[in-house]
Order: sequence, then structure tokens, then C-alpha cells
Amino acid sequence: MDKKITYYAIAVRLSSIFRYSQGIGKGKLVENKFKVTVDGPWMNAQFCPFTLYSDHNASPFESIKNPCSMANLDITITNVESGRSIKFSSLLPHLIHMHHFFEGRVPHRLAPLDIIETLEIPSETNFIIP
Ligand SMILES: [Zn+2]
Repeated sequence: MDKKITYYAIAVRLSSIFRYSQGIGKGKLVENKFKVTVDGPWMNAQFCPFTLYSDHNASPFESIKNPCSMANLDITITNVESGRSIKFSSLLPHLIHMHHFFEGRVPHRLAPLDIIETLEIPSETNFIIP
């Protein structure tokens, strides 16, 4: 199925629904359709795994002091009309936007189509990156 939706569009949609939920809380309704639950902040932040590769001269310790990005929240968005639900780390929008990465073989990996269908991102969505 060719949806013709950019990584950036998916990342923006994830971020915007999270932002409109105004942070930590359970079951906040956004756009009268998306129930958002935010869990955390957790004690240990998740660092962008690509940080270590952003500066090949830096040691892993030096790199982790200046992570590409980090996050410590878990977000669940449920489409109350369709009943579909996605759960992801608040780092995921960064990973999708900057690295075109939806996580590997981990429980919080999200398949692009699951995000697109749950959030009802229309085809041909192709925001221009300024
Ligand atoms: Zn990164």
C-alpha cells in the first residue's frame, strides 16, 4: 500500500497530538477523537541511539553527555472512534523525523502503518521541511 506520507509528517502528527494533550495525564481527549495518556517521567531517560555515531571522535561517555535527543515519557494514543491504539516513547517522533527509524525489535516499536491508520494521517501528506 503506497500512502505517500513523509517521515516528517508522521513525526509531526505524533508530536502535535501529544503536545495538545498538554503533557502528563490520563485519558485527555484531543480533537474529540484521540485519547492521550502520558506516563512518566521515568527515572532514566532514553537517549537517542544514534548519538554515539554523530561524532566518531567522541568517546561513548562524551557522546552521552550531549545526546542527539532524549526522552522519558511513554505515550498512549487511542482513536476512540476506531478503537485502535498506539503506545510509544516520547523519543519516537525525533527518531522518525531525524533518523527515519521506528525502533527495532523492542516492545515499543511502532510500524508506520499502525501510526498512519490510528492517527488517520491522509495520503499525500508531505509537509515541507523549512
Ligand atoms: Zn537522534
